[in-house]
Amino acid sequence: MSQYFLPTLKETPSEAQIVSHRLMLRAGLIRQTSAGIYAWLPLGLRVLRNIERIVREEQDRSGAQEVLMPTIQSADLWRESGRYDAYGPEMLRIKDRHDREMLFGPTNEEMITVLFRDGVKSYRDLPKNLYHIQWKFRDEVRPRFGVMRGREFLMKDNYSFDIDKAGAIHSYNKMFVTYLRTFARMGLKAIPMRADTGPIGGDLSHEFIVLAETGESEVFCHKGLVDKDILSRTIDYGADLQPIVQEWTSLYAATDEMHDKAAFDAIPESERLSARGIEVGHIFYFGTKYSKPMKAIVAGPGGEEITVEMGSYGIGVSRLVGGIIEASHDAAGIVWPESVAPFKVAIVNLKPDDGAVSGACGKLYDALQAKGVEVLHDDRDMRAGGKFADMDLIGIPWQVIVGPKGVAAGKVEVKNRKTGAREELPAEEVVSRLA
Ligand code: ATP
Ligand code: MG
Repeated sequence: MSQYFLPTLKETPSEAQIVSHRLMLRAGLIRQTSAGIYAWLPLGLRVLRNIERIVREEQDRSGAQEVLMPTIQSADLWRESGRYDAYGPEMLRIKDRHDREMLFGPTNEEMITVLFRDGVKSYRDLPKNLYHIQWKFRDEVRPRFGVMRGREFLMKDNYSFDIDKAGAIHSYNKMFVTYLRTFARMGLKAIPMRADTGPIGGDLSHEFIVLAETGESEVFCHKGLVDKDILSRTIDYGADLQPIVQEWTSLYAATDEMHDKAAFDAIPESERLSARGIEVGHIFYFGTKYSKPMKAIVAGPGGEEITVEMGSYGIGVSRLVGGIIEASHDAAGIVWPESVAPFKVAIVNLKPDDGAVSGACGKLYDALQAKGVEVLHDDRDMRAGGKFADMDLIGIPWQVIVGPKGVAAGKVEVKNRKTGAREELPAEEVVSRLA
């Protein structure tokens, strides 16, 4: 830590209105460089990458294939779908030196449809599901709450191509289930809710919502969904996914735009929940909305032309960093779920100028690293109180506290950030315990 770039703040930044934004600034995860645009500092970037990794693993597991499309797109591409004029001021329009109209992509339906159209000609090559994790730009009217509503933000978006509606619904269901798994692995309870399709278009859509008072979405759902267990079952993607989707969608859950007051009021009052939430993901089935105007056509078994059925699926990767903090913090700071924590273990060296203590810390550090445990060593020359406060602020799940008395007795103290539970352990046991 004496060498790490970790500019923590003691004061609460006045520009930050919600706790996740305050903590992200205070813990040195991000810094704003322009309105709604952020630089990711080392600690924040590690969290962002961990979230990205979970998203990627679950996409790969579902059978989707990763590509990487550029951030800059041509206006002509968007004229093909008719969305260039329809998109409005949220789109950042750019001209290159030859006066050609370009834009910074707010999403990628058009580009992926062209890539698909040029690369797939036969029904035999379907279904296909392609994803990428790429920065987007939307010139939001009111960027706020830090990375929750930025102008530049990292999104995982993927696109499914199927031969018919039944296939497209299967792809939709697969993503529905993939999203349940993805968010659960981040320690989040994200509830799928019926949602409006907005400018993407189409007729079937769910938003995945993390309940939080500071959330921007107004939502209505059956309380039973809040207590539902997501991860306890392993999901076989080869199996029929409809029953799982059915199980989640049979109870009422809708965002503001799709809210059906009569249906909601029919639920017993004690089981109704109207709350606020953070949209962390959004899935759409929109049929031939893009494939038709853009002529994404494949040859069917009899040589006939088939316009492919599509869906698109988004996860707000950078928004999730804020979302996870909203869901997991206390008065002292962030409480990272282990799966996304920037480091799993922090060694708190209480006397860096004491050779025996620093030697013990160094040994522990090497041993943990050798086991593949991500570990941070607080070797800074400062008061213990300040170190404890910083550790709680940055939220590392396990703190190993090493001081002169303990070292003399061959012992260290292990503290769990989430529960606050402390335990004294023989130094040699720590590694096997935490690995
Ligand atoms: P919102 O309703 O919050 O404006 P959206 O419906 O326009 O979002 P989508 O097009 O569905 O967003 O994008 C997919 C995901 O990207 C969203 O579910 C959200 O998690 C994330 N996202 C969208 N806009 C932003 C933003 N301005 N900043 C950070 N993340 C965003
Ligand atoms: Mg949305």
